[in-house]
Amino acid sequence: MLYNRMGRSGLRLSELSLGSWITFGRQTDLAATRAILRRAFEAGINFFDTAEGYAAGAAESLMGEALKDFRRSDLVVSTKIFHGGAGPNDTGLSWKHVIEGTHASLERLRLDYVDILFCHRPDPHTPIEETVRAMDVLVRQGKTFYWGTSEWSAEQIAEALRIARECNAAPPTVEQPQYNLLWRQRLEREYEPLFERHGLGTTTWSPLASGLLTGKYEAGIPKGSRLDLIEWLRATRTEDNLRKAGAVAALARELSCTPGQLSIAWCLKNPRVSTVLLGVSRREQLEENLGALSVKERLVPSVMAELDRICPVREA
Ligand code: NDP
Repeated sequence: MLYNRMGRSGLRLSELSLGSWITFGRQTDLAATRAILRRAFEAGINFFDTAEGYAAGAAESLMGEALKDFRRSDLVVSTKIFHGGAGPNDTGLSWKHVIEGTHASLERLRLDYVDILFCHRPDPHTPIEETVRAMDVLVRQGKTFYWGTSEWSAEQIAEALRIARECNAAPPTVEQPQYNLLWRQRLEREYEPLFERHGLGTTTWSPLASGLLTGKYEAGIPKGSRLDLIEWLRATRTEDNLRKAGAVAALARELSCTPGQLSIAWCLKNPRVSTVLLGVSRREQLEENLGALSVKERLVPSVMAELDRICPVREA
C-alpha cells in the first residue's frame, strides 16, 4: 500500500481508504464493522471516513467503538458536518451547527479530535466567511487538524481559500468529490486550477458508482444490494451506465481481474487523487477490492485509452 501526501499538506493517506456510508450501522453490526476495520487496517489502510448524517449517527458510533482497538496516531479519521438532524439548526454550515455538530460527532466517535473535518455540502444559506471562521476555531482548538469541503464548486473552494488568506484563518486543504469511470468531469476539469494553484488534496468517493461498476446490476437489482435499499439511487441504473459497465466488465475479463478491481485501479492511477475511499457491506467485498492495488500495474496506456473510449469525460 502506498501512502500519498494529501495534496500539498504533510498528512499521509493510504492510497485506498475505507468509508461508512449506508454500510456501517445499517448493513453491518458491531462485530462485522470490527472485522472489516481490522482487515482494512491490516492491509495497510490508515484512513477511515464517516459523517454525522450516516445512519443518523450510528455509523460514527460503531466506527468509534471499533477504532478503540487501535493506536490513535496510526489512524487518520474524518467526519463530515452538514446533515445533523431535523431541527432548524441541526443542518448546514452555520457557526452554531459546525461547532455543535462537531462536538456531537466527536462524542459518538469517542475521540478528542478528528484528523480531517469536512463540510459535507456547500450551504447556500450561510456566508462562506462564517464557515471558514468556525472551521478555523476548531483547528485552533485542536478538534481537527485539517478541514475540507465535499462537493463544493471550484468557485466556492476558491472563495473559501481567499477568505482564509485574508483572515489569516486555516484554509481548506482537501475536497471530497465523487470520482469514478461514470463521473469524471468535476475532478478532471473543474478542479484542475485548484490542484495547480493551491495543491488541493482529494479523498474521492464511490469508485464503483455505488456498485454499478461491479456489473452486479446488469440483470436487475439483487435483493439487499444498495440499489434495493436506496430507492433514489436506482435512477443511476440507466441504459447508458449499464452499457458502459458491461464494456468495463468485458475489458476486465481480458485483464484477468474483476470489473470492480479495474474500476478502482483506474481511480488510483489519477495523481490528483490522494486516496480512493472504498465502501463495503461485507468483508469479502473488501478482499476483492483490495486486489485493485495489484491490478493498477495492468493499466498500461492502451488500457487507459480503451477506458477513455468506453467512459469519456462528459464535457460541460
Ligand atoms: P462504492 O461506489 O465503491 O460503493 C460501495 C458499495 O458497492 C458497497 O457498499 C456494496 O454495496 C457495493 N460493493 C462494493 N464492493 C463490491 C464488490 N466487490 N462486489 C459487489 N458489490 C460491491 O463506494 P461508496 O459509494 O460506498 O463510497 C465510498 C465512501 O465514500 C463511503 O463509504 C463514504 O465514506 C464516502 N462517501 C462520501 C460522500 C460525500 O458526499 N462526501 C458520498 C458517498 C460516499 P451493496 O453490497 O450494498 O450492494
